[in-house]
Amino acid sequence: MSTLDMLMQRNTNFVQQHFIPDQSLMPILRTMVISCVDPRVDPAHLLGLAPGEAVVIRNIGGRITPDTLQTMGMLQTIAQIEGINPSGIFNLIVLHHTDCGITRLEEKPEILAPYFGIDDSGVAFKAISDPYAAVEYDVAALKAMGILPSMWMISGLVYDVHTGLVETVVSPDPVE
Ligand SMILES: [Zn+2]
Repeated sequence: MSTLDMLMQRNTNFVQQHFIPDQSLMPILRTMVISCVDPRVDPAHLLGLAPGEAVVIRNIGGRITPDTLQTMGMLQTIAQIEGINPSGIFNLIVLHHTDCGITRLEEKPEILAPYFGIDDSGVAFKAISDPYAAVEYDVAALKAMGILPSMWMISGLVYDVHTGLVETVVSPDPVE
């Protein structure tokens, strides 16, 4: 059986066991997760997310980059067009992890600077080698931007790929 055949078989199982028709675009848990593309750290697996429960944005490192912000802005516009009421608590979770592939780029500011939309000299402040410091940095950066609605609760988590445990590094706190 090819990999694709296997995946199609899994889809058949999904349709039979887990599929929920006619779900809203609005995530059931009023939650958005920003996390890494690493195959070991899918938030659906680590956090047990079911279909429709959370919006997930994934990039290398789960970092706040110009692309991340552009995606969040587009989502805001989609929500407005969809007529989704944005008021009320919304959870924004930044999820980083140990042994991230981005640490392999630590000595390559020429790659990381354009990724973050900054000068080479700014890369040193991005805590590339330390996911605990990086998640604190990114949560603080998001709060400082002043672009998120005041009722959003923002938190920073780190997943340990050696133990499977997720640790709360930055506790949920209102954006303001
Ligand atoms: Zn990673």
